[in-house]
Formats: sequence, structure tokens, C-alpha cells
Amino acid sequence: MKILIVGGVAGGASAAARSRRLSEDAEIVLFERGPDVSFANCGLPYYVGGEIRDRAKLLVTTAARLRERYNLDVRTGSSVEAIDRTAKKIRVRELVSGRDYEETYDKLILSPGAAPLRPPIPGIDLPGVFTLRNLHDVDGIKARVDRGIKNVVIVGAGFIGLELAENFVKRGVATTVVELQDQVLPPFDKEMTTPIEQLLASKGVSVLLGQSAEGFEEAPEGLVVRLKSGQRLPAQLVILGVGVRPENKLAVDAGLEVGPRGGIRVNEFLQTSDPDIYAVGDAIEVKDFVSGDPTQVPLAGPANRQGRIAADNAFGRAVRYRGTQGTAIVGAFDHTAAMTGSSEKALRRAKRPYRKVYVHPAHHAGYYPGAQVMTLKLIFDPVTGKILGAQAVGGAGVDKRIDVLAVAIQAGMSVYDLEEMELSYAPQFGSAKDPINMAGFVASGMLRGEHPQVDVEAVLSAPDGKRPFLLDVRTPEEFAKGNIPGAISIPVDELRSRIIDLPRDKEVAVYCQSGQRAYFATRILQQNGFKAANIGGGYLTYKLFYQNEI
Ligand code: FAD
Repeated sequence: MKILIVGGVAGGASAAARSRRLSEDAEIVLFERGPDVSFANCGLPYYVGGEIRDRAKLLVTTAARLRERYNLDVRTGSSVEAIDRTAKKIRVRELVSGRDYEETYDKLILSPGAAPLRPPIPGIDLPGVFTLRNLHDVDGIKARVDRGIKNVVIVGAGFIGLELAENFVKRGVATTVVELQDQVLPPFDKEMTTPIEQLLASKGVSVLLGQSAEGFEEAPEGLVVRLKSGQRLPAQLVILGVGVRPENKLAVDAGLEVGPRGGIRVNEFLQTSDPDIYAVGDAIEVKDFVSGDPTQVPLAGPANRQGRIAADNAFGRAVRYRGTQGTAIVGAFDHTAAMTGSSEKALRRAKRPYRKVYVHPAHHAGYYPGAQVMTLKLIFDPVTGKILGAQAVGGAGVDKRIDVLAVAIQAGMSVYDLEEMELSYAPQFGSAKDPINMAGFVASGMLRGEHPQVDVEAVLSAPDGKRPFLLDVRTPEEFAKGNIPGAISIPVDELRSRIIDLPRDKEVAVYCQSGQRAYFATRILQQNGFKAANIGGGYLTYKLFYQNEI
């Protein structure tokens, strides 16, 4: 068996190593256009900031190591230029010598990745305008920071943009982030990004939402970024982080099928439209695990797993790839945002019915020092309770909860399973009722009809006359510090004695700080014949949606 692999980083290196483990006899050749294989793209922003000090640590492994341990024929500086599917051979260019040669294959695995988008903005090719994909890029960016630049403009508030923003701030560079959408971290639901926006502002990062870069101009001190609004931002360095596009040229030229957004089409065995050619990683179109629809998810975990599966299949093992659920996490200073499965906005776009709950628990027992509050949003099917997605933002413990929920989605679990989930507990790690259980209790109670809930956006957008009666059951002190406009205050402990003050001809929408006292109040009201519902997640959730109006 002779197996050729195009691309020597996440997917490609995984496929190569797996291939060798499956066969000592196979001839395995790994082609990489760049000078390095298997480098840590995900670590690049932290090298800029100095968290990772030693550049060599970014090389997860080297070509020499791959040759030695895996007996792989690793050819760096070698660009695969064309595939001749009929003759089952590829044309390779050695970039240093310019020499072209051909190599035949029995099986070919493509893992060429995705290239950062460089929209045709005037001045985009000026020195000082960078994208970040590899070590060459990071060397250029870091060299400028090391020279002592004063300011940077990052175009795009996605994962890489925000990771870089944190690292520029750590290096003392004044940082502005420009984002076309009205939120940072566009894959998340907007309200879940409110804490991250506040955090960025508190760290001195200027975030300009709903803005786009229209041009880059040379200026005496570096560059000027011209925004659509007319604003002009000085920048000694510009980073474009506006997304990626699959590197599909080889595949397209070879007549392989690609999807509407350019991802190479593969079947569940990661085979392209040519059964002897597999494709993996950022370059491919995958099946969304939750919706079943085709999508593109450029993340390292899926690329690595797909590389392994493609190798299995190339060696005749018939392993299926289940799809990608988009489990992702990003750190921003001491905060974490993570998500898995479908977002609310994706479900709305797909017109798929759903319900959601918010809980705001501490990441471990409140009585143990250092508890940090997180916001956890759980999205599920309104009939079966099957979990469709989850997002969380906070400090410690966000990663653990999203990973648990990612597994729950993989296993096809429902909110009722979360009530029963047995998770590890000691006070410094969690709570006897873990945030996962809490979300399960709230969601299951809602679906069983025991704990009616209403979304704060629905309450506040209801037309006059249809608006429920708003009841705040926190203490008068909490009410005085901030409340939902139009609410009246009756602390939960006084509710039984003051129930007479409430209208019986209207729904009563009850809230407290995070939902628990309002739950008790809702139960009291229901049992006294009122139509009552809890505003999910309480005042904390209200603040996520309406922070700018407070
Ligand atoms: P890549 O790893 O990009 O590898 C493709 C390789 O193929 C490239 O080196 C390219 O030079 C080579 N190539 C392309 N065409 C040819 C050709 N014709 N001939 C020869 N060689 C070719 N993901 C996460 O999940 N978590 C993170 O924290 C995270 N952080 C990231 C931070 C940064 C700065 C970047 C850039 C990416 C990050 N990612 C992260 C995304 C992750 O790195 C990618 O999803 C993953 O590397 C994709 O693997 P891949 O094999 O498809 O492509």
C-alpha cells in the first residue's frame, strides 16, 4: 500500500501517524508546503503574549522525529500542485529548487486546511497587515511587538481575534477590535457574550461593534485603518481575523465535489467523490451532529479525529465519522466562554423549535473560598427534552460543564438525564447539585409543567396590554440596586401575606436574582390560583440582554 498525505499539521500528521500504526509495510509520504509539520496553531497567540516563551515548544513534533519514530517519508517545502485521478498520481513542486516531479498513490488523504480570508480591501497588502495561520506569520507579528509598537487594530472579534487581543494587552499594546456583527464571538448567542464584552472593556480593549474596515493607509507612524463609519484608527500593526476558507483548489481542479461554501464533500467514511481520495480537517464539509445539515467547522479536535478515521478507512477498517458538533472554548483573560451543539440563533435560522433555560450557579460549593459564578445556557427540544446545545461563560469550571454537555449531546441525552447525572463532588471542585444537575432540574421542571418559565425578551417585547405583571421577589435592597423596568417589589418571604396585591386577571412574571427564589414564589402563586411563570435566569439573565440599557 502506498499512501500519500497532503498537509502535515493537525489532520495530515494524525493520518500519517495512524497509518503507520496500522501498517509497518505501507509506504507513507507526507507532503507539507511549509517548513514545519505538526506545529501548534492553537498556541500561536500565546507565543505573541509570552505565555509560551520557547518557540521550539510550538513544534509538537518535527519532521526528523516523524521519520525516526514512524518511519514516514516527510517532505517539507513540497507543494502538491495537481492530482491526476485517472493515473492515480500527484504532481509535487519542491519549493526551494523549483523542481516538479510525480508520485503515484494507492490512497490519497487531503488535509490542506483553510486559509485566512483576505477580503479585497484597499491597502490590504501593505506591510503591517497580517493574518495568523503559521509560524512564519507569528514570527512577523511577534517581531513587531518586540520592537515596541504602541497600537494594534484587530479586524474580527472571533476566537483568534480575542485570543490575540488578550496577548497584545499583556504586552502593553493599545488594542482595538473591530467587528462587523453586533457582538463578539459570533458563533455564540449574543447575550452570552455580554460578560466578555464587559471584560474586554475593563481590560482597556476598545471593541467597536457593527463596524467594518474599509481601507488601510500608510501613515507616518505606521498605518491608519479607515472604518465604514469614517472613523480613522492609528495602527502600527493590523491583524485580520475575519474567518477562513477551505483550501480546495487541488480538489476542485481534480474535479472532486465541493459544497456551496467550498468545503470538500466527503461521505461518512471521509471519502471524497473519488473513493481512493479521502479528505479531512478545515478543508472539508462535515455533517452537523445536531441538525444533520452540511456545515464547516474549522477546529483542531475534529481535524485530528478525522485524520485518524481517514487512515483507518484507507486501510479498510470501515470507520464512520459521526459529524461535528462544534464544541469550542476560548479564554479571555481570566474568563472562559465555551459552547457545544446548536446555538439558539442557528435553531431560529433553521426554524427548529426549541426551549432554553439559564442558570447562574457557582462553579463549586459557595461556602468554599473562591467560588466563581458562571452562566450556563441549555437549549433543548420542547417536546422530548433532547439536548440540542449549550453555552457557558464565566471563570473556572466552564470547560468541565460544556465538556459534560458535549458528551450528553453525543449520547443523545435529554434534560431528564441531566437531573440524574452523577458527577464528582468535593467542595473545591463542584457542588452536590452540580450546575449540570441544576440546569437539568430547571429544564425538566419546565417541560413537566411544574415550573413554568418565560423568557425575559418575550416579556419585555410583549405589546402593551399583553405584558405580564412583573414581580420582583428579591429583597428591597437588591431591588433598589437595579430592577426590570415596570416591576413591583414583594420579597418572597412576604409574598403569602401580600398576595392580595397581585392581579388575578393577568399572568404574573416573577423574577429574582438568578431564578431560585422566583421558583418558590411561582409555586406559591400557582397553588393560590394565579397564572405565574418564572423569568428564566432572573435579573442576571435580564442584564445579559439589556446591559446597555441599564
Ligand atoms: P492545518 O492544520 O491548517 O494544516 C494544513 C497544512 O496543509 C498547512 O500547513 C498547509 O501549509 C498545508 N498545505 C495546504 N495545501 C497544501 C499543498 N497543496 N501541498 C502541501 N501542503 C499543503 N482550533 C481549536 O480547536 N482550538 C483552538 O484553540 C484553536 N486555535 C487556533 C489558533 C490559531 C492562531 C489558528 C490559526 C487556528 C486555531 N485553531 C484552533 C484551528 C485549528 O488549528 C485547525 O482547525 C486545524 O489546524 C485544522 O487542521 P488541518 O489539518 O485541516 O489544517
